[in-house]
Amino acid sequence: MTTEKILFDRVALIGAGLIGSSLGRAIRQEQLAKSVAAYSRRSDTRERLSHLGIVDNVAKSIKEAVDDADLIIISVPVGASEDVAKKLAPHIKPGAIVTDTGSVKESVIRAVVPHLPNSANFVPGHPIAGTENSGPEAGFASLFEGRWCVITPTNDTNQSAIDKVTNLWQRMGSKVDIMSAAHHDKVLAITSHIPHLIAFNIVGTVADLEDDTKMEAVKYAAGGFRDFTRIAASDPEMWRDVFMENREAVLEMLGRFSEDLSALQRAIRRGDANNLETKFTRTRDLRRRVIDAEQA
Ligand code: NAP
Repeated sequence: MTTEKILFDRVALIGAGLIGSSLGRAIRQEQLAKSVAAYSRRSDTRERLSHLGIVDNVAKSIKEAVDDADLIIISVPVGASEDVAKKLAPHIKPGAIVTDTGSVKESVIRAVVPHLPNSANFVPGHPIAGTENSGPEAGFASLFEGRWCVITPTNDTNQSAIDKVTNLWQRMGSKVDIMSAAHHDKVLAITSHIPHLIAFNIVGTVADLEDDTKMEAVKYAAGGFRDFTRIAASDPEMWRDVFMENREAVLEMLGRFSEDLSALQRAIRRGDANNLETKFTRTRDLRRRVIDAEQA
């Protein structure tokens, strides 16, 4: 192992599902730490993690994982952040960096910061990378390559800790942006949270249809429905927490979305073909921009 590559002596992963286990794999692949320990709440997940052999030590407790770690990465559903912060706080080595991967940032900061000792440096983060799968088997080392990671420092986050976490994400292939937690939550409400809500809703509507129509929807899913079913298969607990913790921003963006949907409904009812075509041309342009930005 070449020492110039190493960023941390010991990394502790708290939560080792899709995101945590992908971090473990990427950190090992890029040789970014001398050792990686991981803790997951259920013994069944810990056994599966041991079997995968992607970290150096599968810890039986948060204390065992965090002991002597210079970087602690929390990757649990956002609603569990406070409980995890309380449990790891007494065991954090002075000067250690604590970061997270939660999809909502303001509520995580509110939940975590009060429990951490002053000597710890908290760097809130969110990789804009994922899949609809969960658990340690779902992770892979290249998950973060070419994807953005957003860091949302608090007023107390120290610059050298931000730099170290930025470096970690960049070495795993991510591009890093820094913004306020409030701005992050607003942007993610419209780019991630509402698209998921729409998928949960449309697939839920189909699930409630009478049996024969439902069978046809499954049979002809390739017409567009298929992509919604993929998104709507995402982890229910994670998404429950996202909507509970980012309520305000989601409701604000949902208001705008509903107004636009009503406008489309009106155009269809009035037979306003030009209006529809203009709107669909604009959305096609936006798709091209996403492709150009290599985020497709
Ligand atoms: P995941 O695959 O379901 O893994 C969740 C991990 O958290 C598991 O280790 C699980 O432990 C643990 N956990 C679940 N509930 C817990 C609780 N109440 N207390 C303590 N630990 C708990 O989820 P993930 O996709 O990795 O998501 C982790 C975090 O990353 C979430 O905050 C999510 O918002 C964020 N994120 C997800 C995506 C995505 O696309 N999935 C993308 C970016 C960010 P056990 O298995 O042992 O129960």
